[in-house]
Amino acid sequence: MDAIMAELERNGWGKVLFQEPLAKHTTWKIGGPADCLIIPNGIEELVSTIRLLNEHDVPWTSLGRGSNMLVSDKGIRGVVIKTGAGLDFVEFDGTTVRAGAAYSFIKLAVMASKAGLTGLEFAGGIPGTVGGAVYMNAGAHGSDVSRIFKSAVIVRETGEIVTYGLEDMAFSYRHSILHEQQGIIVEATFELEQGDRAQIESVLAAYKERRLNTQPLQLACAGSVFRNPPGDYAARLIEEAGLKGLRVGAAEVSPLHANFIVNTGQAKAEDVLTLMAQIKRTVQDRYGVELVPEVLVVGER
Ligand code: FAD
Repeated sequence: MDAIMAELERNGWGKVLFQEPLAKHTTWKIGGPADCLIIPNGIEELVSTIRLLNEHDVPWTSLGRGSNMLVSDKGIRGVVIKTGAGLDFVEFDGTTVRAGAAYSFIKLAVMASKAGLTGLEFAGGIPGTVGGAVYMNAGAHGSDVSRIFKSAVIVRETGEIVTYGLEDMAFSYRHSILHEQQGIIVEATFELEQGDRAQIESVLAAYKERRLNTQPLQLACAGSVFRNPPGDYAARLIEEAGLKGLRVGAAEVSPLHANFIVNTGQAKAEDVLTLMAQIKRTVQDRYGVELVPEVLVVGER
């Protein structure tokens, strides 16, 4: 594997980093090293990287902004492919928006509002990339990616480039087909509607204000830790169980939002996992509800 990683570096297909601490690439600021992290320069380089890794059976994982990931303390074996510069574009054509996978989902919402286009207001506080948002079918305020999604260009695990439409993506609550099929989204196209710029901007501002008042945005976190159970809210159950402020190491159930775990200093992934297990057990015992993680736990344990 070392030879393949050295080849990746020699090929000049992107920025290649060895033993890169993933804590530097996640919003939780938690995570051990990737054996190798590559940020390809563009689509061609991304395809060449995947083909090379597949030819040599080197395992690979994709990473956007790391805002929904808990990376283990031992880190990730093999290669982590992070979407970066070459995939950081946006293009408007009437009510259609095409964005590269690395483009910021928040910036996309702001750009759409400036263009007087409505449909992306829900994205104004979701701090990941377009690729991560499509993978997760990210959503808020009663909407999600599936409501505006038109198509995505995806590099399949074989290196083949395909275009998926809405049906192909099999979107459901925080889920897409890519949870079952390995592939990297390189760009996505969304269909918006013409709207009133001032009104769109005021909706964005109201959502922002609500988040600032209800979420611990000044601390390292990964948004909601658990999915909402059918007909209820994970935050409500955790708060009612009296778990706000519960700590393991430097990981704490946020006193502001019970479904957020914040890293108050040098929290380890193991601290977060222990805290998650305690929350799950307490909520199960008190309410008979099984909480399911929304954050993705990855890496060697
Ligand atoms: P990452 O965390 O890097 O990756 C998530 C998954 O997507 C991984 O499996 C990764 O392999 C995969 N992935 C990433 N990029 C690609 C790609 N190009 N192709 C294929 N797979 C890819 N989420 C919501 O849904 N609603 C919210 O309201 C919300 N609020 C949040 C608030 C805060 C403060 C924070 C920190 C997070 C919040 N999140 C929310 C969670 C998170 O921002 C979203 O899930 C986001 O869409 C993840 O994007 P990312 O680029 O960070 O993905």
